[in-house]
Amino acid sequence: MSANTIKKAKALAKDGVVKIEDDLYQIKSSSDPTKSYFVTSETCECEGFKNFYKFHHGKGLKANCSHLEAVRIFKEMHKKPEPKKGK
Ligand SMILES: [Zn+2]
Repeated sequence: MSANTIKKAKALAKDGVVKIEDDLYQIKSSSDPTKSYFVTSETCECEGFKNFYKFHHGKGLKANCSHLEAVRIFKEMHKKPEPKKGK
């Protein structure tokens, strides 16, 4: 993944990701603010993700895009702290 994608993903994770429910997120499109994508930890609705499978079909590769990466970063940022003993 390019450094640019990671940069974009980090920006999205900061203020473009909305958690809908467990493993379902809504991410604003960076190119069109009226659009947004539904993203899980494995899939994304964006063109880049779909095209990946078109081009690499059957090669056993996992698609990635800035949105999937943003969700991954978002989860890292919002990880629940370790439960403390003896409350
Ligand atoms: Zn995407």
